Amino acid sequence: MSKFWSDIVHKLTPYVPGEQPKLNNLVKLNTNENPYGPSPKVIEALKAEAAETLRLYPDPNSDALKAAIAHAYHLNPSQVFVGNGSDEVLAHVFQALLKHSKPLLFPDITYSFYPVYCGLYGIDYQTVPLTEDFSININDYNRPNGGIIFPNPNAPTGIPLALAKIEQLLQSNPESVVVVDEAYVDFGTESAVGLINQYPNLLVTHTLSKARSLAGLRVGYAMGSPDLIEALIRVKDSFNSYPIDRFASAGAIAAIQDTEYFEKTCKQVIGTRDALVNDLVKLGFEVLPSGANFIFAKHPAWAGAELTTKLRERSIIVRHFKSPERVSPYLRITIGTDEQSKLLINALSEIL
Ligand SMILES: *Cc1c(COP(=O)(O)O)cnc(C)c1O
Repeated sequence: MSKFWSDIVHKLTPYVPGEQPKLNNLVKLNTNENPYGPSPKVIEALKAEAAETLRLYPDPNSDALKAAIAHAYHLNPSQVFVGNGSDEVLAHVFQALLKHSKPLLFPDITYSFYPVYCGLYGIDYQTVPLTEDFSININDYNRPNGGIIFPNPNAPTGIPLALAKIEQLLQSNPESVVVVDEAYVDFGTESAVGLINQYPNLLVTHTLSKARSLAGLRVGYAMGSPDLIEALIRVKDSFNSYPIDRFASAGAIAAIQDTEYFEKTCKQVIGTRDALVNDLVKLGFEVLPSGANFIFAKHPAWAGAELTTKLRERSIIVRHFKSPERVSPYLRITIGTDEQSKLLINALSEIL
């Protein structure tokens, strides 16, 4: 608290990211990073960018990156917006498209950054409870709203929502923007990108942090009708002209273009996930169905906080959410390598 702070600062409740411990030799399964490095072509592109040209500003419009994304998703560059991580893209989305007189709707259990943006921008919102089995029931969104946002698959549950349901939601809310945050879509969930040309109220956001293994580079993007994209550009150009630096642009373009490496590593993560789920079930865990690079699992005989502590004593870090109460028995476990799964299963066998 300080007399120097603006009023709004006193009222903020900032987002708390997963821990980035400074220790080595940890099995780090807490922030959904990719266990494999980025494509070797990304590293080459970054090295080439370490040059005298760094004295110059990057392209404020990121035209080359937008063109690469548009090409990959069969869109027009006017349907693409890019930013410094999808968190920044989402911040602009909240300010540009989701602040209206009617409340914004999102699930009660979801990405915990959403209520933080609402606090920052003074956006009125209502949370919509997930069903008993932690899924989204689109009928619960049939109420007056100034927008709808949810991740698909949802976080931290990992549960995907079928494309047909998303289409129904778009049809029943033609006056609202529906934002589908597809941070984890490449790990086996169907993308809504193919609906963009049909639905001017659909905005899909992606990140290079998870499936493209570039959490350290900070690049995210949104795809939607040129009308929605223009709103984002207006906010961005009132905030930071150069969110994508020269490295981020070069690395992101190389990552988007290396489809082969991307598909291979996503497939590996999915294989490791399916094997880990089998092993956890054998240990008595209940695991929610996941379309992501993480799983949400609980053991009927153990509290989530206790298991998290015991794993930590064995140098394994997973994520635990104390609230809401419904999720407190669960651990959110990022999918690592097969070797990391083995270490986790060994530690859990010992603990149980
Ligand atoms: C990780 C994540 C993001 C943000 O990713 P960036 O690293 O900021 O690109 C956005 N939404 C969800 C649901 C996420 O889990």
